[in-house]
Amino acid sequence: MVRPTFAQIDLDILKTNYRSVSRLVSESVSKPDLRTSVIAVVKANAYGHGAVAVARALEEAGASMLACADIEEGVQLREAGVAIPILVFGALNVSDLNGIVEHGLTPTVSSPSAARALQVMAEKKRSLINCHLKIDTGMNRFGLRHDNLRKTLPEVVVNKNLIFDSVYTHFATAENFNLPLFEKQQKRFLNAQKVLSEFSLRGLYCHAANSAALLRDRRCWLNAVRPGLLLYGIVPPSLKVPTDFKVRPVMTLRSKIVSVKGVRVGETVGYGGNFSASKPTRIAVVPAGYADGLDVRLSGTGYVLVRGRRVPIVGSICMDSIMIDVTDVHVATGDDVVLIGDQGDECIDVIQMSKWLGTVPHEILCRTGSRIGRLYKNIGTSSE
Ligand SMILES: *Cc1c(COP(=O)(O)O)cnc(C)c1O
Repeated sequence: MVRPTFAQIDLDILKTNYRSVSRLVSESVSKPDLRTSVIAVVKANAYGHGAVAVARALEEAGASMLACADIEEGVQLREAGVAIPILVFGALNVSDLNGIVEHGLTPTVSSPSAARALQVMAEKKRSLINCHLKIDTGMNRFGLRHDNLRKTLPEVVVNKNLIFDSVYTHFATAENFNLPLFEKQQKRFLNAQKVLSEFSLRGLYCHAANSAALLRDRRCWLNAVRPGLLLYGIVPPSLKVPTDFKVRPVMTLRSKIVSVKGVRVGETVGYGGNFSASKPTRIAVVPAGYADGLDVRLSGTGYVLVRGRRVPIVGSICMDSIMIDVTDVHVATGDDVVLIGDQGDECIDVIQMSKWLGTVPHEILCRTGSRIGRLYKNIGTSSE
């Protein structure tokens, strides 16, 4: 059984996007060991694309490391047979640490207490754990404060079972060119690396850049970049890509028309009667609603594509369906509908939609609901 509403995920496009990013950041460096590598971010079910299929495809494409939000996400990938290193971004103190050793995950150390907790577990299991150290340079979320390292680092480096081979930070404002914080964070991160070397944490592998930062400023490429959005084919708003660099959206959200009917002048459509027909109107019903991730704010303002045409969503978005105005398009039951993505020459673009809704493109992708099937194109192929 396949529901009419599904997300089509093209894994060949994903791999091509990965290779484009990888090629971009390894430009102009001849020695392979000095090239910037790519840590592919697959948190939150790979931004709604399905973590396991996406992780396997990225592994096939040559990704050196994946990154997840928490231990549970990492364990899911290991259980599916993913073998490359997996970095866990999240704070550890509140989570169950056991999976880390059993599943060979790479935790982030964000505080002395997290380091201590990991050390206790590592001793118990008689193992050494490779960790990445996180420095908070201004995001004020996870990480050791950049201006306090001489105080906190001693409590971190005493833990002899923890091996710190990498250090990273995360930018808060990489897509906003009007704020000075991005530059400040870069400076603070460089200074932090100097302090680290006083604690014999020298020559660490450094990474900082999310999608927006890596497009904005090549000075923050360092040893690795950490794109999420860009791998899924979405260029962060307000950023330009270099000429000859291209990514394409990996996901298309599709459905079908399940019913078409006429509405008379003065009649309303849907809950609340929020749409009222000012002329004889043809309405089509599409079985995708807010439970599938469509934002209710698209009620009466959003569009979908049918027969290569952009048609408006009318009335309120329901839990399981939407109504669209097809008065000007000749449609029939069973016609394909695109909710996000291309059809013919038209496109419902994630960036445009995120602007309509006043949110970030990440949220639109992650919303793709759990009852939506993912249909993978090009699974297990290794074409260029
Ligand atoms: C989510 C995340 C990223 C990826 O961000 P994009 O904007 O999707 O490229 C990188 N690093 C960290 C720490 C993250 O949490």
